[in-house]
Amino acid sequence: MIYADNAATTKMSPAAIETMLSLMENSWGNPSSLYAHGQNAKEVLEQARCDIAHAIGAEPREIIFTSGGSEADNQAILSAAENGKKAGKTHIVSSAFEHHAVLHTLNKLKKEGFEVTLLDVHENGLIVPEEVNAAIREDTCLVTIMYANNEIGTIQPIREIAAVCRQRGVPFHTDAVQAVGHIPLSAAEEGIDMLSASAHKFHGPKGVGFLYARKGIRLASLIEGGAQERGRRAGTENVPGIAAMAVALKEACANLKQNAEHLTSMRDRLILGLRQIPHSALNGDPQRRLPGNVNFCFEGIEGESLLLLLDDKGIQASSGSACTSGSLDPSHVLLAIGRVHDVAHGSLRLSLGEDVTAAQVDEMIRAVREVVDYLRGFSPIWRDLMSGKKQFIL
Ligand SMILES: *Cc1c(COP(=O)(O)O)cnc(C)c1O
Repeated sequence: MIYADNAATTKMSPAAIETMLSLMENSWGNPSSLYAHGQNAKEVLEQARCDIAHAIGAEPREIIFTSGGSEADNQAILSAAENGKKAGKTHIVSSAFEHHAVLHTLNKLKKEGFEVTLLDVHENGLIVPEEVNAAIREDTCLVTIMYANNEIGTIQPIREIAAVCRQRGVPFHTDAVQAVGHIPLSAAEEGIDMLSASAHKFHGPKGVGFLYARKGIRLASLIEGGAQERGRRAGTENVPGIAAMAVALKEACANLKQNAEHLTSMRDRLILGLRQIPHSALNGDPQRRLPGNVNFCFEGIEGESLLLLLDDKGIQASSGSACTSGSLDPSHVLLAIGRVHDVAHGSLRLSLGEDVTAAQVDEMIRAVREVVDYLRGFSPIWRDLMSGKKQFIL
């Protein structure tokens, strides 16, 4: 079996599992309790906060623990909207290929009277900082642009976009769920005001993540209750999950350089192999992309059937986002970079894990080639393309 869906979730690191188990057994006190058992859990929590802050170039008090990336995105955007509204600013700048945790939150705000400008994404899957600058208005209260796209893996010029926002005095949030633990990143140095991350994307547990909010950014609380997280997120903290997240992130950062080098070479080997398939195209910039991300379109086939047949061959992949599988609509990300519906339907994302081998990459190339050939063999669209009734796009 080859697991090539690491953008959807990753396998937990053994050290993170061990941390979690040990805390559940030995340190299950409530961090808000004053006796030693509770204070012990509190220490674990604060150590995790320090480690996470250190890993992303932030200060401990700038880290708020959440239930994952979606909650962090929601809190960042809704906080900026609330602050903006108080100042009479109700315009937000984002992009067309954000994660649904961002897009759906923006849709909710639109219903409340906010105006949203979604920037076009260029064919290479990149956003241009000058276009962010041009979209900012007097009444803009937030710019939110993802660090690295979860489907096509493209890495945005975040430092430049943050600089534009800083210069125009607009808070900048980035959904960095796919970037944290995978590529070098420093929140303070890059001028980021808010950043979202999720543990299960870097070999930590599911249901836990964090929001970085630079000192001075006022956060609204999505959940009312106790005074946990300095009043910014009520509820007894998920101490084992948070500590395991810190362990997983420390591990990912310690091995980041060598993992990225290996993944990049495996990724490029895979891209080279898949490019040999006629009427195929890589989605997103070939260089400015996550080390483990490969995303292709194959003309004349359906992504769904491709996935099922690959699964039969022991390869677990995705057609794009785990969140849209089950829906028949083509990926909003592929449409945003200008792929037409027919082509966007035949997409395949292979997101590699750090332990992938060259032999596995070659096996994936072989399998994809076989399955694409097989499916084209009885595809009516492919027949029309071959007979000239329809024009090839790729
Ligand atoms: C996975 C993902 C999320 C959601 O994170 P959860 O922890 O699953 O809520 C948000 N944004 C991006 C880019 C993601 O890849």
